[in-house]
Amino acid sequence: MSKRDYYEVLGVSKSSSADEIKKAYRKVAMQYHPDRNPGDKEAEEKFKEAAEAYEVLSDQDKRAKYDRYGHQAFGPGTGGFGGANAEDIFSSFSDIFGDDLFGSFFGGGGGARSRNSRPQGARGSNLRIKLKLNFEEIAKGTNKSVKVKKHVVCTACSGSGAKDKNSVQTCGTCNGSGQVRKVTQTFLGQMQTVTTCPTCNGEGITITAKCGSCKGEGRVYGEETISIDIPAGVQEGMQLSMSGKGNAGERGGRAGDLLIIIEEEKHPELHRDGLNVAYDLHISFPDAVFGTQVEVPTIDGRAKIKIPAGTQSGKIFRLKGKGFPEVQGYQKGDQLIHVNIWTPQQVSSDEKAALEKLANSNNFKPSPGKSDKSFFERLKEAFN
Ligand SMILES: [Zn+2]
Ligand SMILES: [Zn+2]
Repeated sequence: MSKRDYYEVLGVSKSSSADEIKKAYRKVAMQYHPDRNPGDKEAEEKFKEAAEAYEVLSDQDKRAKYDRYGHQAFGPGTGGFGGANAEDIFSSFSDIFGDDLFGSFFGGGGGARSRNSRPQGARGSNLRIKLKLNFEEIAKGTNKSVKVKKHVVCTACSGSGAKDKNSVQTCGTCNGSGQVRKVTQTFLGQMQTVTTCPTCNGEGITITAKCGSCKGEGRVYGEETISIDIPAGVQEGMQLSMSGKGNAGERGGRAGDLLIIIEEEKHPELHRDGLNVAYDLHISFPDAVFGTQVEVPTIDGRAKIKIPAGTQSGKIFRLKGKGFPEVQGYQKGDQLIHVNIWTPQQVSSDEKAALEKLANSNNFKPSPGKSDKSFFERLKEAFN
């Protein structure tokens, strides 16, 4: 029984884009879905065949491997979903179909089950990087292209670790399944145990000649430029993860994840306090008395604010919505502007005389009224 070409199964060409393949698979899977063809064995087979084809063609690494080695790359009868049932297929592809469509048929899914497909080489390890962002990038969200040094799939052998097509062979010990059954006689009777194939370490294939570039590992140390989307509102120490962007696995094994740890770049004038941004404004005593207009820095450029006449030191002005957004929410912080009235550190004799003249004037004697809230009350208010 020879296997059909995966591209033929999905009715796409070798040059089809990932999106075209996804669409084509969706179409075929809908047509042969068991729900629509109850009891139809042929439809079920076609359905599984499409799922298997999609599993390979939707994965960049596997697709490259398939393009190079054909079905040989995965071992006969074991690639993809050869031995899987329909439920397994859906737990893997629910992202394409959405749960509502198939949930009823499979009794609500019940979470992802492990598939019975042949194990591949060891999974790649996770990779951690630090990413420094300034206030503006954090407030708006951003996209960063980052060059990451890591294990990447060997291009010479497409990750197979083999020198060429002819040096990949289905493992003779396990016939490609990666598992061996052992029947032993015990006093309780016959017992069957299933263990990982010792010849191929569960990979299902043996490589007779190794790839020269990667020495058979299927991966090499290199670098990849990764485009990282940062949502708005992240904070120092927060960790984002990108599945499959870490170190490549050995011989087609799954790649690890890329973990991105956020670092906040200090702003020269602004200070972050949760969702809010704080700024210390210093104004002169005459400006506080007469009122003035000043420019203050904000996360995105400068803003003009009006200081009313008679502004007391310690007053807090609030620029609504000028703070940081919540990472996954609708709230937005404010910018709080703390007014400090500048007291001269030294005065000339003329200034001294002028101040002395004012010192006894009635208007210059402190007499806080009800509207002049205490420092602590204002603080409480500002952070609510
Ligand atoms: Zn084996
Ligand atoms: Zn290689």
